[in-house]
Amino acid sequence: MAYAYDPQNIFAKILRGEIPNNTVLETEHTLAFRDIAPKAPDHVLVIPKGPYVCFDHFCNEASDAELVDFARAAGQVCKMIGAEPGHGGDGFRAITNAGEDGVQEVPHYHLHILAGRPLGPMLL
Ligand code: IMP
Repeated sequence: MAYAYDPQNIFAKILRGEIPNNTVLETEHTLAFRDIAPKAPDHVLVIPKGPYVCFDHFCNEASDAELVDFARAAGQVCKMIGAEPGHGGDGFRAITNAGEDGVQEVPHYHLHILAGRPLGPMLL
């Protein structure tokens, strides 16, 4: 599937520095920042800096360097917010929404990391 990336989406504006964000971590290819409407005490969005629309777009088309950088950054965020089960934290949920059925609001790939309270069963 070919994806058309909209450079006017809000995360693209954050990446260009056009609107502020609450940065948690920045690496060469990845930015992590706090969600503006947190659904848990810790709610961080991890995004690639490249123009990827959603999870499968990113996984299929990003370079190995971007993929590794993203995975390491996401892991680092879990450490930073103390969410790692078995390592002092009580766990977390990492989710991504894609497309219309997945109810993705912002068309720039992002991983939600939620922690800091019991999150309840996942809705399926
Ligand atoms: P989605 O529904 O998976 O696309 O999630 C989009 C997320 O982006 C929501 O949780 C929003 O609260 C969040 N969001 C929207 N605008 C901003 C912003 O400017 N800064 C941080 N988070 C935002």
